[in-house]
Amino acid sequence: MPLDPAGKKVGMYCCGPTVYDTAHIGNWRTFVFCDLVRRFLEFKGYQVTHVMNITDVEDKIIKGVRETKTPLRDYTSRYEAAFFEELKQLNCLTPHHTPHATGHIADILSLIDRLLQRGLAYKAADGSVYFSIEKYRAQGGAYGQLVKLNFDEMRPGERVNADEYAKEAVADFALWKARVPEDGDVFWPSPWGEGRPGWHIECSAMSMKFLGPSFDLHLGGEDLMFPHHEDEIAQSEGAAMQPAGQRFVKYWLHGAHLLVEGRKMSKSLGNFFTVRDLLAKGFTGREIRYLLLTAHYRETFNFTLNGLQGARTALARIDECLSRLIEFWDDSMGHVNVQPHPDDSKLLEQFRDALDDDLNVSKAWGVIFAWIRDLNRAMSAERLSRDRAASALGTWKQLDRLLGLNLQPRSALRMSEAPQGIVPSGFLVDIRGEEEAPEEIKHLLMQRIQARKAKDFKQADWIRDQLKTKGWVIEDTPKGPKLKKL
Ligand code: AMP
Ligand code: ZN
Repeated sequence: MPLDPAGKKVGMYCCGPTVYDTAHIGNWRTFVFCDLVRRFLEFKGYQVTHVMNITDVEDKIIKGVRETKTPLRDYTSRYEAAFFEELKQLNCLTPHHTPHATGHIADILSLIDRLLQRGLAYKAADGSVYFSIEKYRAQGGAYGQLVKLNFDEMRPGERVNADEYAKEAVADFALWKARVPEDGDVFWPSPWGEGRPGWHIECSAMSMKFLGPSFDLHLGGEDLMFPHHEDEIAQSEGAAMQPAGQRFVKYWLHGAHLLVEGRKMSKSLGNFFTVRDLLAKGFTGREIRYLLLTAHYRETFNFTLNGLQGARTALARIDECLSRLIEFWDDSMGHVNVQPHPDDSKLLEQFRDALDDDLNVSKAWGVIFAWIRDLNRAMSAERLSRDRAASALGTWKQLDRLLGLNLQPRSALRMSEAPQGIVPSGFLVDIRGEEEAPEEIKHLLMQRIQARKAKDFKQADWIRDQLKTKGWVIEDTPKGPKLKKL
């Protein structure tokens, strides 16, 4: 149940990217997961406000600024633009608000001030301001809501980071970091001296600014549970702006990591792939999205290029079914308003139930593929009516609102084979009853379509001959070219 008394509106905050470098697909696993949660809530009729912050000031960013001698904004905007471009390539819905830490310094300062007023924060000798876990706990604050912590190990007086020598206890964390020479031009004035915000406080300030002091959902990767999210809770609940009896966040959802050979995909281990790397290998955003959508969010998932090949095959199976459905539907008859077929209504119900069960996507894919198998069987036996085909296609549309795979049955040439995402529309490739054409053949077909579009008929004929020597013919039909084995 959402906090909204009418039960309609849902506030959802996702910890966004730190724009010091290009995101890797491990990061994208988490962002695609956030997108799935949002789409599912919308699918169920909730009105979601989705907020995702952009961390645009932080240690690694400052290091990059220093090393490249680039102004902060110029440095981060490059990576931020890449992030939004890839967000589109993976067909994630753009969050309603994407606030920047540097755009909310005033909100951050006022939250720090409130924590100082409430005796939960202290200014250290170097001008930094720290949050005191001990004082927070002494005031009844619950630190360790998401993870079990051993407070004896967090003894006062211990120091972990040399640059945080001024704090009273090892568990304390910086709300405001005093300016040091290495920060260069990256600093803001504050009542405690020049400096910059800590990472945790930015999420507390921006989430509460856009969603209120108490909201429904907070998401992030599992590595953020501690200390980032514990610290966010401490700051936000320490500021005590929530209505009586309400927590800062009603539900926390943490996505498990994407692994490579059993280890977390990360920049520091060097075992990462970016979206750009994978596009350069010929994969598409759609295939990457599909792969990331196949694993349950609470289970780690091993990334392999073979897995992506599997994604391609699975999508091809879906696309093929859609192409055949279109033929059965026979769109030359015009649009019709059909009643959903009971099997299709059942599919939607089972699909929703699977996702209601803690977002069990594996189960959801299971019901989808069983449905496809049944449709394929009915089509092969010529037992599928036009109305049923229309109902099935309409059902796909519903499913795809949630899956976001942009299945475009009208351009049945698979997006995965279209170079640079160009999908010619109005062509139907008939592979009904035929064995799947090898990649090389499909590629030649694509080239021929493009040659014909460019009215280069000589080239088109030459490709047709090439295909013939490889044992395939193209039949040009009013519906587009059909590929047949000789
Ligand atoms: P960052 O840009 O480092 O702040 O991370 C952005 C998001 O990606 C955070 O929610 C992280 O928890 C998440 N993340 C980082 N590495 C992985 C990984 N290997 N698998 C899944 N999520 C990750
Ligand atoms: Zn955060």
